[in-house]
Amino acid sequence: MLWPSDYHMHTPLCRHASGEPTDYAARALAVGLTEIGFTDHSPMRRDDFDNWRMRFDQLGEYVEKVRQAQKEHPALQIKLSLEVDYLPGHEDWIRELAGLHPWDYFIGSVHYVSDSWAVDNPEMISKWKERDAFEVWSVYFERLTKAAETGLFEIIGHADLPKKFKIYPKQDCTKLFTSFLDAVKKKDVAIELNTAGLRKDCQEIYPSAAFLALAAERKIPITFGSDAHAITEVGMNFAEAVAQARAAGYTHFRRFEKRKISEARIGG
Ligand code: ZN
Ligand code: FE
Ligand code: FE
Ligand code: ZN
Repeated sequence: MLWPSDYHMHTPLCRHASGEPTDYAARALAVGLTEIGFTDHSPMRRDDFDNWRMRFDQLGEYVEKVRQAQKEHPALQIKLSLEVDYLPGHEDWIRELAGLHPWDYFIGSVHYVSDSWAVDNPEMISKWKERDAFEVWSVYFERLTKAAETGLFEIIGHADLPKKFKIYPKQDCTKLFTSFLDAVKKKDVAIELNTAGLRKDCQEIYPSAAFLALAAERKIPITFGSDAHAITEVGMNFAEAVAQARAAGYTHFRRFEKRKISEARIGG
């Protein structure tokens, strides 16, 4: 099996991941991957925004670490990228970041539904009790749709992230999903199959099979990502992700080099 590229992984600079990039690269080769991409949590304009990302003055060190992994593992393709938080109003900052290094792609992710609450933060899970689940999912998808519309991102990350703790609205969310996917289609953005969901309470890939079917109907391109925060998570559950993609009718995934698109066949 020729595995799809693993386009989502982190480094210790974000303060909640372990293992150096060069060790992730070694692991990738050991599990049979041919391409990976580092996408650590991007810095915010203010370093005190939260405590789970690199500081701005560490961005150069991040790039150096990825370059070192590339040098030490010439048999592996290694992309230099970021997982960028999308919040309304941050567009100029994201544009500034984009100009600082020759990035291969940006994953745009929504974690924050307000300036102080990231829906996936386990330390703030009690916030879910103070708000109506459907209202939270609605705000989240409004932001995710905006993220796609900005055109600042090649990939939208873990599209149905609010399911992480298994707090589902009673209401039907299909309309939230399709409005988002229509924006994705219009901007020719990809969504990722992110296997980290299998390691969380929800125990399924982001996005769900039903969500992915809606994406497939619209012929929306996909990427694959483990969202590894530890060496052993590189390429994790890719067999399941490939099976889910194929079941939805996908034959190809997207690759990026210096923000230029190409397509590759799933399974080689
Ligand atoms: Zn993280
Ligand atoms: Fe994320
Ligand atoms: Fe991530
Ligand atoms: Zn992530």
